[in-house]
Amino acid sequence: MAQTTKTALITGSARGIGAAIALRLAADGFNIAFNDLNMSAFENNDIVDKVKEKGVEAEIFPADVSKHADCEKLVKDVKTRFGTIDVLVNNAGITRDVPTSMMTEEQYDMVIAVNQKSVFNMMKLVGKVMIRQKSGHIINLASVSGIYGNPAQINYSASKAAIIGMTKTVAKELGGRSITVNAVAPGFIHTPMTDKLTEEQRAAMLSRIAMKRYGEPEEIASVVSFLAGEDSSYVTGQVIEISGGLSM
Ligand code: NAD
Repeated sequence: MAQTTKTALITGSARGIGAAIALRLAADGFNIAFNDLNMSAFENNDIVDKVKEKGVEAEIFPADVSKHADCEKLVKDVKTRFGTIDVLVNNAGITRDVPTSMMTEEQYDMVIAVNQKSVFNMMKLVGKVMIRQKSGHIINLASVSGIYGNPAQINYSASKAAIIGMTKTVAKELGGRSITVNAVAPGFIHTPMTDKLTEEQRAAMLSRIAMKRYGEPEEIASVVSFLAGEDSSYVTGQVIEISGGLSM
C-alpha cells in the first residue's frame, strides 16, 4: 500500500469490532489513530503491528472518551501527529445489563456517559476539524438494541437510540460542508462483549436471526469501510443495520 496522508481515528479500538475496523481501514490505506481506555487489551493482541504491516502509520492515544477534557487532548494530539482527521469512528461502548427494576443509577449513568456522551464529545471536537478541512466521514456504532429494544438494556438501548438521533442531527448540521455522518447498527457479533452472554441467551438470539449465525467483526468493518470511502459520497444521515436479518 502506498504512503497515505489520510487518517482514521477509531475510539475503543484495542479489541473487538474497533480493532477489526482499524485493520480494514488500514487495508484501505488510512493511517490509524487507535484509542482506548484499556491499554492491557492492546498488550493481549498484536493489532497495532498488524495494522502497520498494511504499510500505514499507527499510534495509540489513550483517553476516556466519556470525559470531554480527555477528548480535547485526544483530538489535539491526533491532529498534531497526523495533520488531518478524515474519518472518525465512534466505536467505544460498554454494557451493564440489568433488568430496569434492579438497575442502579450508577449503572444507568455510566453506560450513557461512555456510549452516548462520548459521541457528543467526539462529534463536536472532530466536527470542528472536519469543518476546517471541508471534508470528512463520521461513523457511529449504534445497535439493534437502540432500534428494537432489548430486555435488561434500558441504559444501553437508550444510549444507542440516542446515537441514531445524534447521527441524523449532525448529518444535517454538517452536510453542507461535505461531511457525511452515518451509523451502523450491528446485531449479535462475536466479540468479548457478547462472550459474556449465557448459553440460553445465545440460543434465544440465534432463533431470531434469519441467517442463523452471529456476525463477525469483519462484517461490521466492511460496511464501515464503505461509509468511510468515496463510494458512499452521497450517503448521509443513515442507519445501516448489520444483523443477518434479525427480528425482535
Ligand atoms: P468490546 O467490549 O470488545 O470493545 C469495546 C472497546 O471500547 C474496549 O476495548 C474498551 O476498553 C473500550 N472502551 C470502553 N470504554 C471506553 C472509554 N470510556 N473510552 C475509550 N474506550 C473505551 O465491544 P465490541 O463488541 O467490539 O463493541 C464495539 C461497539 O459496537 C460498541 O459501541 C458496542 O456497543 C457496539 N455493538 C456491539 C455489538 C456486539 O454484538 N458485539 C452489537 C451491537 C453494537
